[in-house]
Amino acid sequence: MICPFCRHDDSRVVDSRPVEDGTQIRRRRECPECGQRFSTQEVALLNIIKRSGATEPFSREKVLVGVRKACQGRPVNEDDLVLLAQRVEETLRSTGQAEIEAQEVGMAILAPLRELDEVAYLRYASVYRNFASLEDFEGEIALLRALPSSTKVASSSKKSPENKA
Ligand SMILES: [Zn+2]
Repeated sequence: MICPFCRHDDSRVVDSRPVEDGTQIRRRRECPECGQRFSTQEVALLNIIKRSGATEPFSREKVLVGVRKACQGRPVNEDDLVLLAQRVEETLRSTGQAEIEAQEVGMAILAPLRELDEVAYLRYASVYRNFASLEDFEGEIALLRALPSSTKVASSSKKSPENKA
């Protein structure tokens, strides 16, 4: 690693510690030439390939923005959303791929969102999966009804009966 102070082409790692639940490594480095210290952070690459073909780094914030919109007016709190975005990232990283299609991000959001709030899920799915007719909604709702209730219990801590409507 090149020293950012004097551009010397080598540096020595003096400390290394995991951060962000071990998904990242922060290293403290020292330049043998000028003696300055600096930090680097190592994180596994996760790029999203957009429909245009361009790539951009995965962003939990972008997941949050999309999901937050679908959850408007629903009994879902910000902590639930943050946790959902974290699960989405874990799912995507567990594929071991460095590049993932934007569509797969949408797919990875659907399952945890369904557990969190079924109405928000339907809203999200209707946009994301291009529901074109009432039948699409009916089909999806039938699927939701057929789901084992255990997957619903395992999700949000405080599910009020009202959101079964
Ligand atoms: Zn230096």
